[in-house]
Amino acid sequence: MAPCDYHVLMKLTALGTGSAFEGMCHNASHMLNDELLVDAGAPVPYLLRRLPNLEAPKYILITHFHGDHTGNLPVILGHIASTERDGPTKVIGPVGIREFTERLVCTVYGNRFWLRMVDECRLEFLEVDDATTVTFGRWTCRGVALFHSLGPSIGYHLACRHDAVTLGITGDTALCAGLSTLASLSDVLLTECSFLHPPALFGHLSTADVAELVHDNPATRILLAHYGAMPHVKGALTLHDGMTLKLTEQFLSRR
Ligand SMILES: [Zn+2]
Repeated sequence: MAPCDYHVLMKLTALGTGSAFEGMCHNASHMLNDELLVDAGAPVPYLLRRLPNLEAPKYILITHFHGDHTGNLPVILGHIASTERDGPTKVIGPVGIREFTERLVCTVYGNRFWLRMVDECRLEFLEVDDATTVTFGRWTCRGVALFHSLGPSIGYHLACRHDAVTLGITGDTALCAGLSTLASLSDVLLTECSFLHPPALFGHLSTADVAELVHDNPATRILLAHYGAMPHVKGALTLHDGMTLKLTEQFLSRR
C-alpha cells in the first residue's frame, strides 16, 4: 500500500514551535484538520498564505493567556473578518477567555475594532475548566488543569468525531498530575520542551521531564514543540515550523 493510501485520522500542521523569547521559530500555534487553531502566537495569516490548503480557522483554542500564545489573536480575528467565510468563529479557552480577548483587542486596536470583530467574525466564546467537556463542530474537547507560572493553564484532550484518535495538547506546563492524566488519556500528546537541561524553571518541561513522560506512557506517541533549542528525546518526535503530520494507524503503531 502506498503511504498516500493510509487513512488520515487527524492532520496536524505546526505553524509555530518556538518558545517565548529565543526567536528560533515562531511562537506557539498549531492547526488541526485545517480548521482548529491551537494558540495564537505565530503570524498565522502570513503563514496560511504560504502553506497549501489552509484557510482562516473556524475555531481558536487558547491554552493560557501569555503573549507568546495569544499575541497574534487580534490580527487573526482581523484576518477572519476579511474573508468571505460563513458561520461563527468560536474562541475556546480558560475561564475569562472572552474578557481577555476583549481587553487585548481593545488595547491594541480600540473598542470600535472589537465591536466590528464581534459582528463580522460572529464571535462566540466557550470557557473550559479542569474536567469540563465542550463540543464544537465535529470536535469534543476536555480540559485538564496544568501547572504553569500563570494560571489558568489548560491542556486539552481532543477528538474529532469521525476519527479514532485522540490528541492531547498543551501550551506551557510543568511535569504535573494534569499532564500525566492527559498523556495517559491520549493516543498522541503534543507538549512543550522549553529547557534542554533540568531544572525546568517557571512551570515548564526539560528533556529529562519528557524522557520520564515517554517512559511512563509507552502507549502514547509524544510530540515536542515550544523549544528554544532543538530537543532530542528518545521516543519523542520534535516538530518544526511548517511541518504537517498526518496521523494514521501506521504512525500510531510506530511508538
Ligand atoms: Zn509559552
